[in-house]
Amino acid sequence: LCSRRDEVSLAEEAPTIFSKVIDKSLPADIIYEDEKCLAFRDITPQAPVHFLVIPKVQIPRLSAARDGDAELLGHLLLVAKNEAKKEGLSEGYRVVINDGPHGAQSVYHLHIHSPGGTADDLAPG
Ligand code: 5GP
Repeated sequence: LCSRRDEVSLAEEAPTIFSKVIDKSLPADIIYEDEKCLAFRDITPQAPVHFLVIPKVQIPRLSAARDGDAELLGHLLLVAKNEAKKEGLSEGYRVVINDGPHGAQSVYHLHIHSPGGTADDLAPG
């Protein structure tokens, strides 16, 4: 018998919808790709510009990242910064990572949200 905790961690290991974005079996509006990561527009944008940056390896959530992921995590941030510039977000934007149930994470494949566009969209919450 699995405990509730085991069920949660097993679910976190499972491929998510973002694996299908990575292998292109699910269409997405991809704005950047390299060997380590992918950036694509959020299907339900919360701001005039709202894209996600994900690693190609499936790290389920930030709290599952390891010390050895430091370079990859830094790379994701730099890609978010570069794409924000390309998207014209010269006045600023947010960079958000939701972690776990209390962090409102819904897809258990680590992703950086970069919403931006107007000052209203940068309000907390
Ligand atoms: P979370 O709540 O896990 O931080 O954010 C997951 C994000 O993924 C949400 O903003 C949601 O709109 C987005 N999302 C979920 N499914 C898809 C999809 O199939 N395609 C795209 N482009 N975005 C998705």
